[in-house]
Amino acid sequence: MPLKTPSVLGELVANFNLKNLSFFKVGGSCDLFFSPYDQDDLSNFLKNSDFKITCLGNLSNALISDSGIRGCVINLVKYFNKIEFFEGFVKVGAGVLLPKFINECVKSGLSCLEKLYCVPGTIGGAVYMNAGIPEFDISKVLISFDCIDKNDGEVIILNKDNLNMEYRSGNIPQNLIITSVKLRTFYENVEKLKEIIGKISEKRAKSQPLGKLTCGSAFKNPLGFKAWQLIKESDCDKLAVGDAIVSDMHCNFLINSGNAMASDFYKLIQIIKEKVLKKTGILLEEEIIIMGKY
Ligand SMILES: Cc1cc2nc3c(=O)[nH]c(=O)nc-3n(C[C@H](O)[C@H](O)[C@H](O)COP(=O)(O)OP(=O)(O)OC[C@H]3O[C@@H](n4cnc5c(N)ncnc54)[C@H](O)[C@@H]3O)c2cc1C
Repeated sequence: MPLKTPSVLGELVANFNLKNLSFFKVGGSCDLFFSPYDQDDLSNFLKNSDFKITCLGNLSNALISDSGIRGCVINLVKYFNKIEFFEGFVKVGAGVLLPKFINECVKSGLSCLEKLYCVPGTIGGAVYMNAGIPEFDISKVLISFDCIDKNDGEVIILNKDNLNMEYRSGNIPQNLIITSVKLRTFYENVEKLKEIIGKISEKRAKSQPLGKLTCGSAFKNPLGFKAWQLIKESDCDKLAVGDAIVSDMHCNFLINSGNAMASDFYKLIQIIKEKVLKKTGILLEEEIIIMGKY
């Protein structure tokens, strides 16, 4: 029996190919791809459908399997893109991309997430991942977020104090879709903000394989160690499986150098983990979110 598809205000696409959206340019299709028009539209859809639900942002940290994702992928990039400034805080839609948001803050002379200028995800994805750099992450300015329960479409507000956000994980309950986020802002000189962004962009250009098909760091840094150092020490810095290769510029970055499949990346990740464990006794944990069946 076909699953129930309620009428919606946003866009629904059947058999949507996720490969083109993915930063790795790999992965299969989902049964249904839904861009809800607003919170009510999403809530109504969730209340009235039986699909297994997965939320994806800008796919800058997601490895989607070659067989894709069963059920419905919810994506907020198209319509959840409002930015509203208030005294001391900003309310921002979960689908807004970080660089766009940061540029808006800079224009208004507000400090908020400028240190994350080179993180190419959405605000929702950044909270889910607790995106950050060594001395800063989004939890430092997060006040609260609105979200919707995938199971019953109910709208919930969660305060940061009720979460256990940690290094590269917001520890967000799996049933929640983040729809908008409140972040603390501080007045700052526009030129100073521009200088911070400029320095970050310069540093990244020198140390990361920009312009390549990558999802950023593949592994989290284990406490007291750098994942890239462990990878190098374990002779994994020149490894490849098919066209899935370890970057020669930053060996914690994996790259699609041509026609890699998701299965190539998956195998490469497993080989790196095994070799690093054997050499150093440390089990690396993926930072990339692996989705679908392998
Ligand atoms: C070149 C490059 C550099 C990077 N540098 C950094 C860096 O310095 N620091 C860093 O932390 N990351 C970095 N990243 C990784 C990535 O950009 C971040 O993890 C980003 O926060 C992911 O956001 P996204 O919207 O792309 O999420 P996706 O990749 O689409 O999804 C990631 C996870 O978030 C969940 N998710 C997404 N949106 C929502 C939502 N609205 N509600 C609930 N769950 C949601 C998904 O289900 C999935 O589990 C880099 C990536 C690249 C390609």
